Amino acid sequence: MSEDQILSDHILVTGGAGYIGAHACKALARAGFVPVAFDNLATGRESAVKFGPFFRGDLMDPTTIAAAIAQYRPVAVMHFAALSLVGESMRDPGTYWRVNVTGALNLMEATVAAGIRHFVFSSTCATYGDQDGVVLDEETPQHPINAYGASKRAIEDMLRGFEAAHGLQSVIFRYFNVAGADEEGEIGEQHDPETHLIPLMLEAIDGKRPALTLFGDDYPTRDGTCVRDYVHVSDLADAHVLGLNWLRDGRGSRVFCLGTGTGFSVREVIDHARVVTNREVPVLLGARRAGDAAALVSGSARAVAELGWNPKRSNLPQMIRDAWRWSQSRGFARD
Ligand code: UDP
Repeated sequence: MSEDQILSDHILVTGGAGYIGAHACKALARAGFVPVAFDNLATGRESAVKFGPFFRGDLMDPTTIAAAIAQYRPVAVMHFAALSLVGESMRDPGTYWRVNVTGALNLMEATVAAGIRHFVFSSTCATYGDQDGVVLDEETPQHPINAYGASKRAIEDMLRGFEAAHGLQSVIFRYFNVAGADEEGEIGEQHDPETHLIPLMLEAIDGKRPALTLFGDDYPTRDGTCVRDYVHVSDLADAHVLGLNWLRDGRGSRVFCLGTGTGFSVREVIDHARVVTNREVPVLLGARRAGDAAALVSGSARAVAELGWNPKRSNLPQMIRDAWRWSQSRGFARD
């Protein structure tokens, strides 16, 4: 470690080699912290760890968590590492409960045992379930309809219990749909297999797959396709630094929704992609995907007012443009 790194505060970032975790590491490094990327590389990539040290460990193995904490003595924990696919969680709920809940529990116990008092947690709009198009905010009751959302809600409950018993303070972020890539092109979305709408759509545009399958057009929405609220991954990362500083300033545990308040249907996303890339999007109409809510749109007024969050990159053309540039830089485009 350099002298600067020894003097700076370390933050343990679980899932730091993943899509969102890597962008959070970049934002943390920019803010003067040293992000320690803790990852088992099940879905993350070591090549995404560019902004601080890498520690290969597994949340299912508490000895590796304790070893990382002993080595780096972090002042706070950011917990991204989780299984996060709605469809997969419908097919294999047991694995989602086991990995997400046990992993978080092991991490929270190690955090408390080390005397660390601040914990930033990635939760999700999937904890709300299907609520008939209402704008969802921090006070909206949570009724998850898939094991992914249910496991995340359970971890929120665990955090409340750990605060009451052990004084562990948390900022819980409920993400809406995360998209885009680092504007400077250093990191981006790279799942294998890919399941998310925007990267799949870009691969279809680019001939890397025959077509995008549109999962249902008979939802009770304006054009029958699912409506989602898309947030730029770098804006999301900025919110995590603000949340960390919120805790370090002694402002206490808080839940924040991270969305823009504007929803786009799948067909509207496709229309924007056609304009941004100036190419046709091959689309096949398919069946609904089990576990999908018709509409998930956030009110993010609290994050804006209280954290001073400014989701300046979270407009759909920029998110698609940044994702497109990233996919091209990885050789996905033909030209
Ligand atoms: N979607 C789709 N085809 C795909 C992937 C996703 O029509 O190949 C739809 C999906 O049903 C949802 C939206 O796009 O309404 C966003 O899905 P994604 O998997 O990107 O994120 P999620 O909403 O599951 O977090």
